[in-house]
Amino acid sequence: MDFAIPADLAPVLDKIERLLTEDVIPAEHEVLTRGFVAAAPVLDALRAKVKAAGLWAPQVPKDVGGMGLGLVAHGLVSEKLGRSPIGHYVFGAQAPDAGNLEILHKYGTPEQKTQWLEPLAAGDIRSCFSMTEPDSPGSNPVILTTTAVSDGDDYVINGVKWFTSGADGAAFAIVMAVTNPDAAKHGRASMIIVPQGTPGFELVRNIPIMGDAGGGWASHGEVSYTDVRVPKTNRLGPEGAGFLIAQERLGPGRIHHCMRWIGICERVFDTMCARAAFRKIDEEKTLASRQIIQAWVAEARAEIDAARLMVLHAAWKLEHQGFHAARDQVSLIKFYVSDVMMRLIDRAIQVHGALGVTSDTVLAHYYVHERGARIYDGPDEVHKMVVARRILKRYDGGGGR
Ligand SMILES: Cc1cc2nc3c(=O)[nH]c(=O)nc-3n(C[C@H](O)[C@H](O)[C@H](O)COP(=O)(O)OP(=O)(O)OC[C@H]3O[C@@H](n4cnc5c(N)ncnc54)[C@H](O)[C@@H]3O)c2cc1C
Repeated sequence: MDFAIPADLAPVLDKIERLLTEDVIPAEHEVLTRGFVAAAPVLDALRAKVKAAGLWAPQVPKDVGGMGLGLVAHGLVSEKLGRSPIGHYVFGAQAPDAGNLEILHKYGTPEQKTQWLEPLAAGDIRSCFSMTEPDSPGSNPVILTTTAVSDGDDYVINGVKWFTSGADGAAFAIVMAVTNPDAAKHGRASMIIVPQGTPGFELVRNIPIMGDAGGGWASHGEVSYTDVRVPKTNRLGPEGAGFLIAQERLGPGRIHHCMRWIGICERVFDTMCARAAFRKIDEEKTLASRQIIQAWVAEARAEIDAARLMVLHAAWKLEHQGFHAARDQVSLIKFYVSDVMMRLIDRAIQVHGALGVTSDTVLAHYYVHERGARIYDGPDEVHKMVVARRILKRYDGGGGR
């Protein structure tokens, strides 16, 4: 077993680290305080720098202009990018576009690729993924009320979605809608591309997340579909294959998220340690002299290192043995890493005292905008249940001694 970073990847990671430290992190406060829409020129300038450095779209296949990195390599890149809340966006690796790119690349027709995949891969447009509904359990997504009814060469879509991340300003949505209501439950829905501006497709609002509605890419939209008519050629993949395609999107997506969360952990860990080493709590000593803080630092270090190994192993298994073989590991990392991250952010805020709840450090942003990690891509409880069931099945009839 070799834990060394591959020789061809090491210089890429160094370049990314340098660009993040010198250009991206210094710009993030302005972006976060002005908002993604108002700060578009800053973001565009950073994206141009990334492209000029040959670091654009690390996970995107080379045939559409990306770096074509494999899952483990991209995991390591994703950790670096996660050190800034704007890292993934600036490098063209942000959700939900990354997942949409992946399925368009695999399932898109030549026309869909020309119209949507190419400009998306180039960062000229954005997209969104519209599956969750306010009135259906997202944790059991086979229950959907949005329908796409066949009418000649068209589908007519009706329904309400929410938490369609990045819907504000997206050029198109990939919507999950029931096309085959009488099929077996995993064969009822299809993915359909709905271009922005199609009559009946409306962004109702950007949903406030703990008070912050955001804007542009950094938003979560409530979207209504009222008699939205699109040609059947806008369907992605075969009819009824929506869940199959969604499943394929989720495996790598969870690796991307988890490695991004490790990057967040590293940033938060640095912030926490720097504050502990700086903040005097009497004439002589800093917070770093206190055992409770030392315990938090040691525990966090162990948890981050353990989490990283788990995620890289899951990525390796997914890349070499496929989703079926890796599904336990993918579930384990999803709840383990999000929990490590949220506990660490909370402790780092505690170490900062009142400063921790202000927006003068990056901690409050993470506290608000990463809390969803324990909910999206399968709530923690569902992953625990699924993985535990599989484990316990292996002990069926074992005798218990
Ligand atoms: C920040 C953020 C971004 C998102 N982005 C997108 C997006 O771009 N596109 C999109 O389509 N969706 C998106 N979502 C929605 C997300 O996928 C759903 O929120 C998620 O699937 C959970 O569904 P729900 O909110 O309906 O919760 P519910 O299904 O109502 O579940 C609520 C809670 O019940 C518990 N629970 C559920 N099932 C079980 C069970 N079997 N056993 C025990 N406990 C259980 C869990 O604690 C869960 O959190 C996003 C969500 C967030 C928070």
